[in-house]
Amino acid sequence: MLGPTGTTNPTPEEIMELVRQVRASGDSSRARAIGAEANKAGADRAESDKKEVADFFDTYQNNTGGYAGFFPDHDSTVMGIMSEVGCQPGPTDIIVVPADVGMGLSSGANPAVALMTEDKVALFRKIAVTNYGPGKVEDGEPNPDYQALVARFTIGTIVIAKSLMSQEFKLKGTIWHECGHKLRGIKEEAGLVFVSEISAMRDAFGKEAAYEWALKLGRTADYHRTYGLAKDPGRKELLLLLQEICPEHVFYDEFRKQYEDIMGEPLKLSDDLGQRLRKEKEERDAARRPVEVGTVLTGTLPELCAQVPEQDVAGALGVIRPAGAKLGDTVTFAGKKWVVRGLGSRAGKTLYTLECTVTELPTTVVKKEEVWEKTVGPAKSYGLAEAGPWSYTRYIDAMNDSRVVEAVIAKVLEMYPQMSRETLYPLVRDEVTRTVKQ
Ligand SMILES: [Zn+2]
Repeated sequence: MLGPTGTTNPTPEEIMELVRQVRASGDSSRARAIGAEANKAGADRAESDKKEVADFFDTYQNNTGGYAGFFPDHDSTVMGIMSEVGCQPGPTDIIVVPADVGMGLSSGANPAVALMTEDKVALFRKIAVTNYGPGKVEDGEPNPDYQALVARFTIGTIVIAKSLMSQEFKLKGTIWHECGHKLRGIKEEAGLVFVSEISAMRDAFGKEAAYEWALKLGRTADYHRTYGLAKDPGRKELLLLLQEICPEHVFYDEFRKQYEDIMGEPLKLSDDLGQRLRKEKEERDAARRPVEVGTVLTGTLPELCAQVPEQDVAGALGVIRPAGAKLGDTVTFAGKKWVVRGLGSRAGKTLYTLECTVTELPTTVVKKEEVWEKTVGPAKSYGLAEAGPWSYTRYIDAMNDSRVVEAVIAKVLEMYPQMSRETLYPLVRDEVTRTVKQ
């Protein structure tokens, strides 16, 4: 470690040396952590972090006497915010830290974190005595009492970046979320945690602001579908709270399926919204145009489907085949032949420009015992007679690799034991052969 101990604070040079050593050991730990040794290396790192913090105090025992945090005023503000929702803060519950960098915090997506692992606790303790060690606090503030400060970082401590202090709305939403975990005694991102958070925002700022927070500024509809509406306790309570704060059309668009799953009944529409949705559908339908030779369409697959008559893109017809077509290739889509004139991407989706070259593809539909076979141009698909003609087209889609054929046949036979393997096998094999030849 560092040179002889003294009764004065360490010099800036000594601190720099400490920082260099700690960073170097952190880097090698990270390198070791890659691979099968990851867990052990993580534990080693936590151990070595603890040792470095202990060394720091062995070396600089006189570094005491200040406040046990970085910002007394900010700490008292955030503790006040906790108690506003009935969450009585203790000294280890919440700490405002100096900067975004170094502690894995950013002013954008992640300005606060709850320390839930020993590894994280050790990391924050270490950074508190290195990056923010003696002489490094801001604006000529006195050094903290590092011994006491380090003791405040523990499992469950909420760490807030100072940059968040100027954004009251976001600060409160963030803290009240963490209070939700604490008040309800739930570690996971379950419905009730978000009920605590969002209802506190509604009570403090009003319904509209709570909606802004819940669907735009703090969270998104997709986030709720993935977490709070997917995990009990509190799925139903969160659903009803979202219904209360969201405009009806937003709730209908974003959460109708969740409503029907959770409540076990259809979501009823007000007359106004029902009329509006009917009108919107009419407008969308009016935008659909029959395709002729020479028609050029541009868009992602769903956008292309919205531009042609609905029946042209029903089921398997609404797919571009072959998948992975290149510029200049001929493909089938909407029961027609097209040449690919442009390929790009938008938000991770393929963006096509297609020009129609042939509108009338000969279609044949024949029944072979229990199986329907449909041929449209070069594309062939199969469906089971019992469940409607095209119910297992999706299996056929997976058959580019002949190794999956047997697995698919086994799956279909399991679902439809009355089918004969003799009937099924040649159909499947033909499809595979055709696909491989293409
Ligand atoms: Zn959470």
